[in-house]
Amino acid sequence: MKAVYTTCPFCSCACGLYLQSDDGRLLGTAPSERHPVSHGRLCARGWHAHEAPLWGERLTQPLVRQEGELCPVSWPEAIRCAAEQLKAAQADGGVGVIGSARATNEESYLAARLARGALKTPHVDCGLRDTYWPLHTGIAQGLGGALQGTLDEIAACDLLLVEEGDLARTHPQVAAGVVRALRQGARLLTWGPVRTQLARLATLHVPTPPGCHGELAAALLTAVAEADESAPAPQVVQFLASARAAGVPDPGDELRQVARWYLEAWGAAMLLAPVSAPPEEMRAAAYAWALVARAAGHARRPGSLVLPLPVRGNLAGACRMGMAPDALPGGHDLADGAARERLARVWATEPAYDEGLRAADMLARLGGLLVVAEELATSMPKPPGTDALGRLKALVVLDAFATPTALAASIVLPITSLAETDGTAINLEGRVQHVQAAVPPAGEARPGWEVLAELASELGLADHRYASVADVGAEIARCVPGLDVRGESALASIDAPEASMGNPGWAAAANKPNPRYPFTLAVDGVMDWGEDPLVAFSPTLRRDSLAEAKRFPRGAVYLNKADADAIGIRAMAPVSIASATAAVVLPAVVRSDLERSLVLVPFAHRAQVAELLGSEAAVAVQLTRA
Ligand code: SF4
Repeated sequence: MKAVYTTCPFCSCACGLYLQSDDGRLLGTAPSERHPVSHGRLCARGWHAHEAPLWGERLTQPLVRQEGELCPVSWPEAIRCAAEQLKAAQADGGVGVIGSARATNEESYLAARLARGALKTPHVDCGLRDTYWPLHTGIAQGLGGALQGTLDEIAACDLLLVEEGDLARTHPQVAAGVVRALRQGARLLTWGPVRTQLARLATLHVPTPPGCHGELAAALLTAVAEADESAPAPQVVQFLASARAAGVPDPGDELRQVARWYLEAWGAAMLLAPVSAPPEEMRAAAYAWALVARAAGHARRPGSLVLPLPVRGNLAGACRMGMAPDALPGGHDLADGAARERLARVWATEPAYDEGLRAADMLARLGGLLVVAEELATSMPKPPGTDALGRLKALVVLDAFATPTALAASIVLPITSLAETDGTAINLEGRVQHVQAAVPPAGEARPGWEVLAELASELGLADHRYASVADVGAEIARCVPGLDVRGESALASIDAPEASMGNPGWAAAANKPNPRYPFTLAVDGVMDWGEDPLVAFSPTLRRDSLAEAKRFPRGAVYLNKADADAIGIRAMAPVSIASATAAVVLPAVVRSDLERSLVLVPFAHRAQVAELLGSEAAVAVQLTRA
């Protein structure tokens, strides 16, 4: 039996594991004992990593839609048709490129190069980017550079401040690090709308409504400034002045105690989870939390860290590789002269430097899309209907799996899955790690980086002959100095200007008391694992989601037991949820771990409340028995 060392693709902890195979067939998974992240431990998802490429429908041939049907064609024919359709769409309505956290760094880099360099379009983005990159940039601006650290450093901290969105489920190794720290006597502050298992272990849990928590950060910053005798930084002074003007509440005794702990801690970890909120609000709240670390003297302290948690696999890598409408590869600003000069030299063309549309807007406003390993239904705030995809003049999809997006495509280019791919990925620590092929490609599937390089050449970009994926890595190193994807390295900082944020991002109006609409409605989480194509094709990993789908075929709404009792709603009884503009009826699931006045709809059923939420992350609603 053969065992190939690679990186777990599911969450951004990115544990090291071995894929075991025999005669080209994947048989099992084993942890890497010496891996610096996982140290021989895997979560349940990781133990089943070999299942993902085995189950479900694989794409094994290039397909072109003819008279409504996807028909097999040769690779040269598919690449030629894809280039023609994308060029035609570019001339008639514009074209965009959407990438994914499932892509390797090399695939994301070449997708960004194809967009800005070959298609000359600024419309480039990746699914779920808005759940992570605003946190990353907000922290970098608050601290004057990223404060990254390792999972081992989390376990060694004596104070942990955790935005709790169910870390044990979304980032199991991070949760394990927090628990290890607790066992050694660390203190834990959590905040969030659900009293999760981890929140129950906290020294102090602050119940908060869904969304960003600039107000909580501002209150803690006020308490830190009161307790610290040294002169605060100008950004802190400016922020506190705007916070006072906005009426930030008194921190209270408990937060004042946390502020003293933070000032005394020799190692403190602040972990910011992705939340459903507008990107600008997330960035402003992350900036506020970074200022708290700065004011407490943890901005440059070895052993202290402020980490945003990317929700899925290689989301950090996709963002760093330039899959963004407002940044160049390396996360450089669009106006950065040195970054522009490097790209123009390496790509041998003048790229598109404008700011482009976000993925959700691309769907509504452009004529064509190139989608790289992304299932749009799982990564958009609102799943696009078949109408939205059907109106596109060109939908070219590179994927390993027959996802709904691939099946709606005008052209399908089959690429290798995680077990058949070489490349690199970046985890939540900023660690660049290798992904290695364990088995041969399925059918005619080809590595995504090869397909993207060939398509860019067909579109007219100077022909770069990459003999192997390492050549792509070498080119990335030339475009993004300091990021050497040929070897394993940790990224210490990003290029981000020191900046002050105007709007501190106070909580949404929905969070303010409203006697007519006393409940806050939001979507539970920013994604459902069961909808991730890597998980969706594994019966073992999808078991929870399948059970939920069977239990609630038409959706459900979670509410607090005391609230349900007060309104007279029994479990599974229909409940009417009404805002000022819309209403919907769903069966009630009564829970005791939810905060009062909070109403959550499972991520998988978010379409049911799309009209109620509009563009907001949370809205005020009224509940009545239906
Ligand atoms: S913690 Fe994340 S990276 Fe590690 S095995 Fe589990 S899913 Fe994979």
